[in-house]
Amino acid sequence: MADVVVVGAGQAGAALVAKLRNDGYDSPVTLIGDEPVPPYQRPPLSKKYLLGDMALERLYLRPESYYAEAEIDLRTGTRVTGIDRAAQEVVMGTERLGYEHLVLATGSLPRRLPDAIGGDLGGVHVVRTLADVDAMAPGFQRGAKVLIVGGGYIGLEAAAVAASRGMQVVLVEMAERILQRVAAKETSDYFRALHARHGVDIREGVGLEHLLGDGHVSGARLSDGSEMDVDMVIVGVGIVPDTGLAEAAGLETCNGIAVDAQGRTSDPAIWAVGDCASFPHRGGRLRLESVPNAIDMGDCVAGNIMGRAQVYVPQPWFWSDQYDVKLQIAGLSTGYDRIVTRDGGAAVSFWYYRGDQLLAVDAMNDPRAYMVGKRLIDAGKSADPAVVADAGADLKPLLKS
Ligand SMILES: Cc1cc2nc3c(=O)[nH]c(=O)nc-3n(C[C@H](O)[C@H](O)[C@H](O)COP(=O)(O)OP(=O)(O)OC[C@H]3O[C@@H](n4cnc5c(N)ncnc54)[C@H](O)[C@@H]3O)c2cc1C
Repeated sequence: MADVVVVGAGQAGAALVAKLRNDGYDSPVTLIGDEPVPPYQRPPLSKKYLLGDMALERLYLRPESYYAEAEIDLRTGTRVTGIDRAAQEVVMGTERLGYEHLVLATGSLPRRLPDAIGGDLGGVHVVRTLADVDAMAPGFQRGAKVLIVGGGYIGLEAAAVAASRGMQVVLVEMAERILQRVAAKETSDYFRALHARHGVDIREGVGLEHLLGDGHVSGARLSDGSEMDVDMVIVGVGIVPDTGLAEAAGLETCNGIAVDAQGRTSDPAIWAVGDCASFPHRGGRLRLESVPNAIDMGDCVAGNIMGRAQVYVPQPWFWSDQYDVKLQIAGLSTGYDRIVTRDGGAAVSFWYYRGDQLLAVDAMNDPRAYMVGKRLIDAGKSADPAVVADAGADLKPLLKS
């Protein structure tokens, strides 16, 4: 019997077990993950690691030796296949392990292309795990033709790496514009122009109809009727929360494993954290797909397992690296009705408002705008649009108002 069993040795699970130990929790803790490696950070998978600029060990969240030293029983390469809620045990094939507290930190699964349109051909990749990226790395050859399906952050980051490696890159986005689901038109325009300068052929309002090839992908037919030769396909069409275990165990789900304000599922002995969990937020439910959310929720639930009864209040932020541009995003832009642009040349930021209320900031190579925006948003404050729009005006005084 372990007091705390965590299923999913990713960003959230790793944060939670470390927080338990840091805060003096001294009962048995087991962290179970089905990947063959210790917990690692995913963001570099579509950035520096894919580019070949980062060694494997630097991906690891902590040195491998940490887990034994902290008396965390880390079981890699181990898949939890079921939960016996009545017995309070997780099932791993023929083995069972009892728990007092079970934490589901199962993350999310990438959407794949259906086999019927060629999704099962060789050379078709998703970008979720280290194994995914290691499998596509040999195809990153100068001059090779890559088709990227999906113009969200993952697709755009993969496009940036491929272009930087001298590949011929076509990116198709079915929606009217890239980043449509997550950002304003101004941000889409900024990144479209950035990619165009690096030779990426972005086609918006165009979907993939069918991949062609015999065993390995060799071409693609697009929804505008055009056909192209292709050596490799990278699919970045979103993710779905991994709720399979929770659903099979009869836990409530709602765009993710439904948890209460403290992170508890519909079974009081089971918690959920990170990408897989949807939590109460402003009268509805929210599920975030980001490192900060995974860490903060992991920390919060670790505290609650120790009896602190904390409410999880997200302070959303995100980042993306493409070429020499660092995008930093503070807040959630949902519901905005206008954008204020602060254009300082190399440093540009777009500020999202609903009425007079500042909701979010997208800052490109502008850490100061990001920092000021984030502090204002976290404090529930706004910013005078006239000051924001004047790139010569100092933003810091906004923090004092
Ligand atoms: C390529 C890429 C780039 C990203 N870039 C950014 C970025 O720039 N900024 C940012 O904030 N976020 C980024 N993200 C998102 C961020 O990495 C995720 O939000 C974060 O990893 C979520 O953490 P998690 O612990 O919830 O899930 P994960 O890190 O996915 O971990 C879940 C783990 O659980 C395992 N698991 C699932 N089911 C079982 C089971 N039954 N038994 C055992 N193990 C199981 C999975 O295999 C996985 O290892 C990126 C993600 C990807 C893939």
